[in-house]
Amino acid sequence: MLKKISINKISELAAALMDKGLLLAPVKEISGYNFVEIKDPKQVDLDFHNTIASPKAAFFPHKEDFIKYETGKPIDTASVVALNLPPAFLFGARPCDVKSFEIMDIHFNASGIVDPFWKQRRETAVIFGYAFDLEKPAQPEEFYQTLGIGAADPEGSDVFMVKKGGDLLLNSVTPKGEKILAELKVLNEGKAADKKYYEEYIKKGKEYKTRSMCLEPGAITKKLEDLFYNTDFWTRVSSACISCGVCTFVCPTCYCFDICDDTLFAQGIRRRVWDACMFTDFTLEASGHNPRTHVYQRLRQKINHKYSYHVRKYGVISCVGCGRCTKHCPVNIDIYSLIEDAMKA
Ligand code: SF4
Ligand code: SF4
Repeated sequence: MLKKISINKISELAAALMDKGLLLAPVKEISGYNFVEIKDPKQVDLDFHNTIASPKAAFFPHKEDFIKYETGKPIDTASVVALNLPPAFLFGARPCDVKSFEIMDIHFNASGIVDPFWKQRRETAVIFGYAFDLEKPAQPEEFYQTLGIGAADPEGSDVFMVKKGGDLLLNSVTPKGEKILAELKVLNEGKAADKKYYEEYIKKGKEYKTRSMCLEPGAITKKLEDLFYNTDFWTRVSSACISCGVCTFVCPTCYCFDICDDTLFAQGIRRRVWDACMFTDFTLEASGHNPRTHVYQRLRQKINHKYSYHVRKYGVISCVGCGRCTKHCPVNIDIYSLIEDAMKA
């Protein structure tokens, strides 16, 4: 089902979605765009390239309460925090970010132990993917083409959106997407010419150029295994790193978290909060021993996790080439150049 709406009327579409549930969409903030929960439909702004932080927080919030308890009481008096989620609409996610949800599903929903919080959020959300603007060049940090992801890939979205001049075309990809499009009376029917434009755009998206190298997952895995003890290499590539963790917080496929207890007047909450393998204390053990005291060990861990261990364990690279880690690294450490260097080492 193909529908359309004038981009000038995007706030009407936002209002219609807000009537049905929670809307997360790109909003222009002081330092750039981010996905936020929309309070005023006029906030939604599709004139963005990509957001600073990835939209992973839609399913994996920065902090999430799990268990409520009272100190000193038996464990069976503790209760799981109920989510009671309303329907949610993630509006405007770029194809590389949508691909990241599939990678994150491996950990939270498909490798034996199901995370009920992630699963419920995924099930209640409708994803409106949004093609990159093919008229504009890719940003220098991006390399999703290297990882086989196109600039207008609809796979993984429920509804996929393409800009056509002053209009936004919305095509259903899944039954969930079809249902929501049928319900949104604010949308107009797409014409045959719109359908043709949409289909050609999807095809053109496959040819769209980002930085690209020939990267075979098995080859990079083997290369990184061979390089593991090459301390000179890892020291050189990590020498500028200040262990700030920004690269992991903005990354759509980083999912490390810590579990913390917060108690006040005997009322306790057990919650998870984002953590980062780039932080100095990430591997600090209770004994005081820390197996990764050097910055090179931490960067080596991050790169190996995404491009080696993950491939060995699950068969796919855990990176979608969005380029956020490079763009927002305060000392310009570029994961693409690092992988290129590793392949040549
Ligand atoms: S490692 Fe960097 S390029 Fe890869 S998905 Fe994460 S932020 Fe994007
Ligand atoms: S963003 Fe850059 S400086 Fe900060 S931890 Fe990551 S690689 Fe190191």
